[in-house]
Amino acid sequence: MSQPVFSIEFFPPKTAEGAEKLRATRARLAALGPAYFSVTFGAGGSTQAGTRDTVLEIQREGHQAAPHLSCVGRSRQDLREILAEYRSHGIRRVVALRGDLPSGFGAVDYASGEFRYASELIEFIRAETGDWFHIETAAYPEMHPQAKSPQDDLNNFARKVAAGANAAITQYFYNADAYFRFMEDVRRLGITVPVVAGIMPITNYSQLMRFSEMCGAEIPRWIRLKLASFGDDSASIKAFGLDVVSHLCEQLLDGGAPGLHFYTLNQAAATEALWQRLDLSERARRSR
Ligand code: FAD
Repeated sequence: MSQPVFSIEFFPPKTAEGAEKLRATRARLAALGPAYFSVTFGAGGSTQAGTRDTVLEIQREGHQAAPHLSCVGRSRQDLREILAEYRSHGIRRVVALRGDLPSGFGAVDYASGEFRYASELIEFIRAETGDWFHIETAAYPEMHPQAKSPQDDLNNFARKVAAGANAAITQYFYNADAYFRFMEDVRRLGITVPVVAGIMPITNYSQLMRFSEMCGAEIPRWIRLKLASFGDDSASIKAFGLDVVSHLCEQLLDGGAPGLHFYTLNQAAATEALWQRLDLSERARRSR
């Protein structure tokens, strides 16, 4: 069996205080030995400079760092310069996305502009930089909210792999069957790239509901009801969340998922607790 990849995601902090907090979070999570840290771009109004600065800081600390790069609303020249800069710093991995425009832009016509879809960005990265970058792409076991149908979404995923993606990271989900069914469909299309499961720890009910509404991730009814029943009892939410998500991770790894990617929201505790309960550092070592 090849080594499972356990990775960790941050968003770029917007203030000096946020940057300081992230350093402390990173120090705790770096001790777990993740394969790499990725840094989002554009989500929540963050800037490319924020992504770049955070990525380069992580790299200076001696860790592998992967910037996210989204193409919606950007020019070729813009992206060319960003890629060249990352390359000049020896960055070898990017997470290539279409991205979403921040709310306030009104109705978005994603089909206009220089790049319409992530597959076009991936093609562009390959054309500009050959095999320099290991390209991660996004996958949606519960279907992307704007897709016409599950089959259409699957075909669009196949386009991204055909364009040159090396691997994928999924949107988060809480139903392991959605992942396994997606993987069956993907393999049936002859796609063999690793599809790492995106994991969102559960720590805050209202925040989770808000995110899930936006990205189309389903919160199973029994999880929703149980979380709601805890009210403001944050300790019970976290303890229940740890049980549910660690069980999900066990199912995924036992069923052959090639890795887990943790959406940390720049918090250390929940990811650390999952990592320790699942003994991920030992799992990664054993399979070497
Ligand atoms: P695409 O793969 O282009 O798909 C977008 C939609 O278009 C889908 O419905 C797809 O079915 C459809 N589609 C694709 N190709 C075609 C085609 N040729 N014809 C017709 N329809 C097509 N967002 C950020 O802003 N910043 C981030 O850093 C960020 N990081 C993320 C990391 C991960 C692991 C994931 C899963 C998501 C992330 N996102 C991020 C969110 C992502 O940008 C949104 O989900 C976005 O709406 C879609 O991006 P994509 O790359 O999946 O797009």
